Amino acid sequence: MTLGGVSRLALVGSRSFATSQVLSMHSYCFTRPIITRQASYCTHSMDDKYFFCGCCCCGICRDFIFEGDCLNYELIEFKCAAGHSECLMSMEVKSSITDKLRSSGLLRTQGLIGGKWTDAYDGKTLEVHNPATGEVLADVSCMGQKETNDAISSAYDTFISWSKVTAAERSKCLRKWYDLLMAHKEELGQLITLEQGKPLKEAIGEVSYGASFVEFFAEEAKRVYGDIIPATLPDRRLFVLRQPVGVVGAITPWNFPLAMITRKVGPALACGCTVVIKPSELTPLTALAAAELSLQAGIPPGAVNVIMGNAPAIGDALLASPQVRKITFTGSTAVGKKLMAGAAATVKKVSLELGGNAPCIIFNDADLDVAVKGTLAAKFRNSGQTCVCANRVLVQEGIYEKFANALSKAVQNLKVGEGFTEGAIQGPLINKAALEKVETFVQEAVSKGAKVLLGGKRHSLGMTFYEPTVIGDVKSDMLLSREEVFGPVAPLLRFKTEEEAIHMANDTNAGLAAYIFTTNVQRTWRVSEALEYGLVGVNEGLISTEVAPFGGVKQSGLGREGSKYGMDEYLEFSSYEICMLGGYEQKLTVEVRRQSLPRWTCNSKIAGREKASVLSFAFDVNVEVSCKPCRQLLRSCVSE
Ligand code: ADP
Repeated sequence: MTLGGVSRLALVGSRSFATSQVLSMHSYCFTRPIITRQASYCTHSMDDKYFFCGCCCCGICRDFIFEGDCLNYELIEFKCAAGHSECLMSMEVKSSITDKLRSSGLLRTQGLIGGKWTDAYDGKTLEVHNPATGEVLADVSCMGQKETNDAISSAYDTFISWSKVTAAERSKCLRKWYDLLMAHKEELGQLITLEQGKPLKEAIGEVSYGASFVEFFAEEAKRVYGDIIPATLPDRRLFVLRQPVGVVGAITPWNFPLAMITRKVGPALACGCTVVIKPSELTPLTALAAAELSLQAGIPPGAVNVIMGNAPAIGDALLASPQVRKITFTGSTAVGKKLMAGAAATVKKVSLELGGNAPCIIFNDADLDVAVKGTLAAKFRNSGQTCVCANRVLVQEGIYEKFANALSKAVQNLKVGEGFTEGAIQGPLINKAALEKVETFVQEAVSKGAKVLLGGKRHSLGMTFYEPTVIGDVKSDMLLSREEVFGPVAPLLRFKTEEEAIHMANDTNAGLAAYIFTTNVQRTWRVSEALEYGLVGVNEGLISTEVAPFGGVKQSGLGREGSKYGMDEYLEFSSYEICMLGGYEQKLTVEVRRQSLPRWTCNSKIAGREKASVLSFAFDVNVEVSCKPCRQLLRSCVSE
């Protein structure tokens, strides 16, 4: 494969480079200069005009040449020894990423405090890696307690003004943010692929999905209605306002570097809250880019703050501060429980999206194609790294063999590759620990009698790539059934009856998502209502949308994100009882009939008008008729 024509290859040959020299160069060379603008691992031509670098994308191919220097390079040649066309495409995409990110100012590495991009106070940084290659993408500020406290103060100060901005104005800012996120969909998607690893198409899909929360909550901002309640006494009025809760600490994971942020920050800002975001240290670049766009959208400095670094120190500072009134978290159940306990000290509102152990139930009467397609989507999205991913595929015995074969065939077609590789559907796992966890789970299942139907080992691409895998004859006591594997492994478990399936499905502390595949309408309702889960997909594997409430029951969490219910998490009900001090001002137009006032001797103004045969006037009960007997008398003789 060449870029710039075959003749260039001859030119390469004429330069004084030993092939072995080129071949021995470090394989991460290409992307490192792009992201960090450092000319590492390059070697120069005699006249310093050309630079040779190793290839980053498949680990097999080598040799490419930059003209100029590595900071302002122009790719003039590319040769993939393995003949991989994807490698070339991968490079083209990557070179445009840098340009766009640089020019749009989206490549941020500092934290954001009070609208100012800020280094860690002690100057510490942490490396962000590309999970597909291991390359260092950037060094970002590694912050802790002090920076978090300053971010909280700035969020608190801004809350005073932002909460008073009209809903319409807040809505406009959010809409602008949405527009900017969508306008930078490509770059944000590329950033997600770089730091999280998911295939570019899926990453761009995440941007649209993530932005949809901002759009939705821009609209909801205008619908934060209160209530009026009939009072229990005549001179009282009772009404209810929904007020923003205050400063929000939003702690998010790495599997959706953008969407997990927007579905918290969107409703928080819409309600008038301000936020301190703590993204995952594995994927902070997308969070920082999104925060940059929030500033460009006119969301005031201090409303969105981003702190990353020492997670426990940041978490503890958020928990300890009485100014932080709400913690919203997506991540592991273990950390969620810690945060919930920590929030008790200052009695904060808490919402948690924690781990799942999603059953995906395939009944004998399922449409096989629909079931395979749905299971693929539910299991292999994001390489199995989502909390709603099908974790246990329960298959009724009558369809087991057919389904196992069809699923294995479909999974075999899932192309594995670095996220920029054309056609890649399965990217790498996030890190080595994730890879080792998957390996351990699979090995344990196999050692207890489960059968590998497909995959079952590390992928030949190396790094953290794992083969898309189907394991048969999995039992309920295996790790694969009891815990989230968070990887591209579909464990198949057999069941006989509907009751057994429901029992197996509910036999877990988790309760986030469940899926059923059946063509029987009665069973659809019976089973989906019997499942102890916050989300149930019927004949559908993709169930997350901004318009529906997302969240779990049991130990999968508290609260809901997305939809109109997602607003409630950032609002408090304040109820107001107004006492009108014994009376109530009411203008009445009354007709007082003369004959009905024969013995009325009160000295109030009305008395002077008694001479008229028919009186028609407006009077204020409070002012005009203040004494109780007169009021009672008048009431008895007036008609409205
Ligand atoms: P995962 O295992 O999926 O990474 P975690 O729960 O460990 O899930 O991480 C989710 C988020 O919680 C990340 O942003 C991480 O940095 C953060 N986190 C982890 N431990 C703590 C902690 N003690 N306090 C606050 N945040 C934490």
